[in-house]
Amino acid sequence: MKLSYRDLGHGITCIEAHFQRPNLACCYLLEGDGEAALIDTGTNNTVPSVMELLEHKGLAPHQVKYVIPTHVHLDHAGGAGELMERLPEARLLIHPFGARHMTDPAKLIAGATAVYGEAQFERDYGTLIPIDPARVTEAGDGLEVEIGGRTLVCLDTPGHARHHICLWDPRSRGMFTGDTFGIAYPELATERGPFMLLPTTPVQFDPEAWHQTIDRLLEPQPERMYLTHYCSVENPAPLAAWLHRQIDDYVAIVARADPTTPYAGIYSALLDYHREALRNHGCALDRKGFDDLLAMDIGLCAQGLEVWLQRNG
Ligand SMILES: [Zn+2]
Repeated sequence: MKLSYRDLGHGITCIEAHFQRPNLACCYLLEGDGEAALIDTGTNNTVPSVMELLEHKGLAPHQVKYVIPTHVHLDHAGGAGELMERLPEARLLIHPFGARHMTDPAKLIAGATAVYGEAQFERDYGTLIPIDPARVTEAGDGLEVEIGGRTLVCLDTPGHARHHICLWDPRSRGMFTGDTFGIAYPELATERGPFMLLPTTPVQFDPEAWHQTIDRLLEPQPERMYLTHYCSVENPAPLAAWLHRQIDDYVAIVARADPTTPYAGIYSALLDYHREALRNHGCALDRKGFDDLLAMDIGLCAQGLEVWLQRNG
């Protein structure tokens, strides 16, 4: 698949991950003084693009110091094993709760196969390669790592998943947020700005923790957020307020759902909710456009909310 990337300044490059469709998932290359790090990895299908971009930038594989999946969901970490094989000096930096899944991916494979089915798993993820535990560094809250004279600060950021970290980059005044600061597909941006969607992917949605995490992400007063879905958004404060509202609105949707068939009720309520939000955002999407861009995410959101309901019910 063809290399596609965007230079975002501050030594940061956004790389198209080739996951399901263009502009769905990306990962980031961060550079400084002859060293580099990758933040999120995409899947095995992303690895050729990463290697080609390194070559294009004159970076040898051994100059990559860290591979940093924000969490172990496979659109973020699925390519980590194969990348670690290609990048001989790299260490894997991962949330302490995610580390064992990177060294033994059996549970990730079982979990993702349960959500997506075997055929889709094979197409989207292929074979997950276990990572040598000796090459893994657990990213505890507050851990600072240095990449060619620049510092990245790891933050423990539960809400979307308990194994999620975000990374604060003082140089760009940007935060790498994985899925914690929502999804904003470029196709849905209008003159009102990006359209935000809160991804409550199974199985660890935690509304209280997520509220706290969003506030915490704003503490260093970031000027931009580097989302995995998709690319960077500026002026995060009003977007954070929107995400806070969505957490509460999703919880209210779950409370109203018929407990005997929760998935169906939650799914159709989420469809209505986001269709209305799109209209309010000035986004004219026809039925097909909506289905192509959002139906899968909303299905995953409904699954995650159903799991949360059953855990708390
Ligand atoms: Zn994701």
